[in-house]
Amino acid sequence: MEHWICQTCGTQFPQSQAPPSGCPICQDERQYIGHDGQQWTTMAQLRAAGFHNIFKEHEPGLLGIGTEPKFAIGQRALLVQTSKGNQKHLTCRICVHFHRQNKYPTEYLNY
Ligand SMILES: [Zn+2]
Repeated sequence: MEHWICQTCGTQFPQSQAPPSGCPICQDERQYIGHDGQQWTTMAQLRAAGFHNIFKEHEPGLLGIGTEPKFAIGQRALLVQTSKGNQKHLTCRICVHFHRQNKYPTEYLNY
């Protein structure tokens, strides 16, 4: 069982034995499916291919979390750290995966 990830938009789907029949996001007329048709990957395949997260402090209290090399449409997550709490905006599937496993660098775990 795998959590299949659409290679075009980067959306990760619920666990299943086989990839979904299609990505409803990419099948929407506002999106597209690549010339090679619907392509799927998994987190293990991405790791094996060398994809990893990078962290960039855009300004004090604003941390960007992205994936290198660029994957899908290049989503990134933002973490806004304030004195009243922190706000996460996670759109990057790989970032969400690492977030769920608490694999951020330790200096970013106190939110
Ligand atoms: Zn898609």
